[in-house]
Amino acid sequence: MSRFFSERYKDLSPYTPGEQPFMKKYVKLNTNESPFPPSPLTVGYAAKAAESLNLYCDPDQRLLRRALSEKYGVGEKNVICGNGSDEILDLCVNAYCGKDKPAVFADVTYGFYRVFAQRSGVPYRTVPLDAELHIDPRDYADCGGTVIIANPNAPTGAALYPEQIEGIIRSNPDNVVIVDEAYVDFGAESCVPLTKLYGNLIVTGTFSKSRSLAGGRLGYGIGAEELIADLDALRCSINPYNVNAMTQAAGIGCLKDDGYYAENCKRIVRTRAVMTDGLRRLGFRVADSLGNFVFAAHKTVPGRTVYEKLKENGVLVRYFGTDRISEYNRITVGSDGQTEALIGALERIL
Ligand SMILES: *Cc1c(COP(=O)(O)O)cnc(C)c1O
Repeated sequence: MSRFFSERYKDLSPYTPGEQPFMKKYVKLNTNESPFPPSPLTVGYAAKAAESLNLYCDPDQRLLRRALSEKYGVGEKNVICGNGSDEILDLCVNAYCGKDKPAVFADVTYGFYRVFAQRSGVPYRTVPLDAELHIDPRDYADCGGTVIIANPNAPTGAALYPEQIEGIIRSNPDNVVIVDEAYVDFGAESCVPLTKLYGNLIVTGTFSKSRSLAGGRLGYGIGAEELIADLDALRCSINPYNVNAMTQAAGIGCLKDDGYYAENCKRIVRTRAVMTDGLRRLGFRVADSLGNFVFAAHKTVPGRTVYEKLKENGVLVRYFGTDRISEYNRITVGSDGQTEALIGALERIL
């Protein structure tokens, strides 16, 4: 870092994204992308929008917000779109955390929550998952901060029921609760309907996982009009063109082709069951997951060794190596072929 870098950022440790290999071909199961390409209709929408890239995109994201509002049964003013849901989550931390309002999230969860808090200079508090690596909703009752819950949680894959999250919302009338539903399409139940009942709830979602658009960068937030207006004020103070024209169009294309993406989710859920069985057969402890990934620890082989040996064998998975989860790897559920390659490589290694 240069001597000019602001004092504000002296403690900043940026998020480490999963590796994106450049030259070498891997069976890539490390960043929870979809193994399926976006549909031809989606690509067609993006290509059409590319013809008008001389013009700025719609800063109000009107067609995309309308399509999302129809999909989720909420009003157009209840929706905001971001450059990935990461951007929405960052706006939320900026909007709803401060000196006396720490961000509150699990000790084992999406690593970006901590980074957002650090970069915004707001305090944060972590709440330990229980011994089974589950969130205990009671830990969040009247918690005095802005709650962020990934549901299903990453990297564990465990989910709460909307009734449990509703309990958290009700017990925090003076705090905003953010529910990150990046993985909800793989089997958990969405809290979007609760946004109509509670003025302190924001649900975020992404097109990166279940809609094959990770590289397009598209996420959204859903909540009460006033909350969305807060986030929009911040968004337009940073970059009103945060979602580019091709991505806005691709998002509309995705929503028009909902059946294609729903079918892909079903395939992932089927493959997840096969993969879980295969891993258990090989001596892994695998928690039941509602995401497009599983979290697995081998009974005898250290987590880091599993990661390294798999990489030598051309399979990339995600190893975090942090405190409570140093024996675990998070493995994306890919195609059936990728899963066979994973299990085959593990059979050789073990
Ligand atoms: C992948 C992921 C996101 C955000 O993804 P974007 O690509 O920025 O939309 C958010 N939360 C969790 C828990 C994730 O795993």
